[in-house]
Amino acid sequence: MNIRVLYSLFITAFILIISSCQNPVKNMPTVMPSADKSTMENNASVNEQDKTVKIYDKKTLLNWKERYSQSNSRIFRQLIKPVLTPNERNQLTNVQFDVPELGKFNEPMAFYRPDGKSKVVMSAQSLKFLDDLCTAYAWLHINGYSPETLIDYIAMLRYKNLDEFPTPLDALQIPKDALEDTKVDNLALKIFTSARTFILAHELGHILHNHIGHAPKEKIGEKEKKRIRKQEIEADQFALDILDRIRTLELGITPIGTLFFFQINSHLNWDNHNSTHPLSSERLQAVANKEKDTMISSWLKELAELLADKESQQSIQLAAQYRDFDTLAPRQRGELPFAPDRRENISQPFQGSYSGNYTRFVFNESEVLSVEVNFQRNGSKVTGRFNFGLGDGIISGDIEDKILYFDWRWYNKEGMGELKPFGDNQLKGTWGYRSSYDDGGEWELRRK
Ligand SMILES: [Zn+2]
Repeated sequence: MNIRVLYSLFITAFILIISSCQNPVKNMPTVMPSADKSTMENNASVNEQDKTVKIYDKKTLLNWKERYSQSNSRIFRQLIKPVLTPNERNQLTNVQFDVPELGKFNEPMAFYRPDGKSKVVMSAQSLKFLDDLCTAYAWLHINGYSPETLIDYIAMLRYKNLDEFPTPLDALQIPKDALEDTKVDNLALKIFTSARTFILAHELGHILHNHIGHAPKEKIGEKEKKRIRKQEIEADQFALDILDRIRTLELGITPIGTLFFFQINSHLNWDNHNSTHPLSSERLQAVANKEKDTMISSWLKELAELLADKESQQSIQLAAQYRDFDTLAPRQRGELPFAPDRRENISQPFQGSYSGNYTRFVFNESEVLSVEVNFQRNGSKVTGRFNFGLGDGIISGDIEDKILYFDWRWYNKEGMGELKPFGDNQLKGTWGYRSSYDDGGEWELRRK
C-alpha cells in the first residue's frame, strides 16, 4: 500500500475513533488504555534510565499528583476490582498505585510495574499528558477541526528529540476554557477513563502473570526480545479481557481507549529495532485479534500494518523533524496548515488558494497525485505552501515575464520549478529536483 493511502487511513482512523466515542454509551466514566510503552518498560532495570523529556513544570505536577492518585484507586475499586475472579483478587490484595511526579523511564508515557513488585507506577506527567491529549482530541473533534495536528504533535515529540517540549494544549492552541463545553468535557473524560483502565489492567496483568524484568538494553538478544514480546501480549490480553468483563456489566466502558492508547504509542514508540520495548506489529495484531469490537479491531489491524511499513515510518519521521510548531494551529479537515491570504488582489495569478494535480515521473511511468497550494504574492515576489497529503512543503520565487520561477522544499528534498498562468484561473508548469526545473514532473492548478 502506498504511503499516502496509509497515512490518510491513519487520519481517518482517528476521525472514526473519535466519532465512535460519541455513540451513546451508558453513563460511565471512560476507561483509558495505557500506553504500551510503559508496559514494555515496566520491567526495565533501573540503570537503564531514558532521558526524561520535560513537558510540565513542577508546580503543575504536584497539583495533579494527588488527584490522579485518587482517580487511579477509584478506577481500580469501581471498575476493575468488581470483575476480578476471587483468585485474581487474592493475588492483587496488596497492590499499590504510585503516582510520582516523573517516571524512571518512558516519559511522557511512564506507566509501568517496577520489577517483581505488586505495584503500578503511573507518573503525574504521563497522566497529565494523556489527559491533555484527550482534551485536545475532544475539543478539535467537537469543533470540526482535523485531528491531524495532534498526530503531528505526537510525532514531533518523538522525533525532534528536545529536552523540553510544549504542552499538548499550548502547542495545539486549544482554548483554556475548552472543558467548559460539556460535550468536550464528557468526550475527553470518556476517552481518558477508558485508556487509563486499559493501562492499569495491562500492568495488573504483568503482576498476575509474575512477569520478570529484562536485562539492560545493550544485552538484549533475540531470545530476550521474544520473551518480552510474549509478556506484553499476555498483559494486553488480560487488559482486553478485563475491559470485556466490564462491558458485560453494561457499565458503558468503550473500547475506544485501547485504540487511542495504541495510536499515541505507535507514534511515540516507533523504533522497530534496538528498542527494549518496541510496540511490535505482531503485538498490535494480537490485540486486534482479541478485540471483539469489529471496527476497533479492524483499525488496530490497519495500525499494525502501518507500523510494519518502513517507508511510512520514514516519512512520518522526516515530516516530524522538519515541521514547525506554528503548523499545529487548529485547521479544518482537508485545509492546509496556513489559511490563504485574502488581503487583496485575490484575482491576480499566484495569489490565494489553488488545487489540482501534479505528475511525478517514476522510472518510465508517471503517477498523478492531487495537491493543494496557498500562494502569497507581494509584487513580483511569491511564497507559498503546498500539500499533497503528506505534510506541507514550501515554495518561494519571483515572477518574470508573467512566469513564476521558484525553489521548493519538502522535508529533506528540494528543487526548482516554473508555473505559467492560463486563462484567468489556471496555472501550469513543471518541477524538478535540485537544479532542474523539469525532471520531476508536471503540475496543473486551478483557483479554488
Ligand atoms: Zn507491559
